[in-house]
Amino acid sequence: MRTKYKRILLKLSGESLAGTQGHGIDTVRLNQYAEQIKEIASQGVQIAIVIGGGNIFRGLSGASKGFDRVKGDQMGMLATVINSLALSSALVAIGQPAQVFTAINMFPIGEHYSKWRAIEAMNNGAVAIISGGTGNPFFTTDTGSALRGIEVEAEVMLKGTRVDGIYTADPEKDPTAEKFSEITYDEVYTRGLKVMDLTATALCKENHLPIIVFNMDCPGNLAKVLAGEPIGTLVY
Ligand code: UDP
Repeated sequence: MRTKYKRILLKLSGESLAGTQGHGIDTVRLNQYAEQIKEIASQGVQIAIVIGGGNIFRGLSGASKGFDRVKGDQMGMLATVINSLALSSALVAIGQPAQVFTAINMFPIGEHYSKWRAIEAMNNGAVAIISGGTGNPFFTTDTGSALRGIEVEAEVMLKGTRVDGIYTADPEKDPTAEKFSEITYDEVYTRGLKVMDLTATALCKENHLPIIVFNMDCPGNLAKVLAGEPIGTLVY
């Protein structure tokens, strides 16, 4: 199958890794993701991945329970490293080379991230899993993925979620919600749609990185997006 893109940035939320458990790492879900990633890697697509940490810890919710916000965010960033190690382990177990990079130096858990080393890993056939978000508190992994996607010169950011695109309202709460097949960054902002945080959306807009939001929990969907099938919502 021909793919539309040569290099992508895939963003996975930590929460979706929790699967039906609601927290931690659901190995069934993890292995499903690994299979989908291997499928597109075998088609020659270069893949950089950023994973969230919401299944383990979020600084903002920690702060509401009395944690220092900066320490809470550091805990959240460490959570993304845990998820990244889990995904790299699942990929390597099925024969797909993967390398974990960390925004903050914590060798030998991963290699300290640099654009060039991540690109080199992808050129050598490994999936580059870039963990630790931006390395700074008060940011999210959506912003981390926008940043890394731009840095590694990905052609698109694929945001794998549990819904199949962007809707006029939350489709899990409002049955009249309608799905957009495509939408501009500005319209996401003016309509107040909760696609990504504003910092991430602004970074993508300013650097012309299109985003495709799609349902990653449906096996085969990642390959369909790569083949250019119109599933999900394109933000441009
Ligand atoms: N985080 C941070 N800086 C970053 C990225 C993440 O401080 O650059 C922290 C923040 O506390 C965040 C947590 O890591 O809540 C987990 O990331 P996120 O909430 O984006 O995960 P997701 O919602 O995708 O599971």
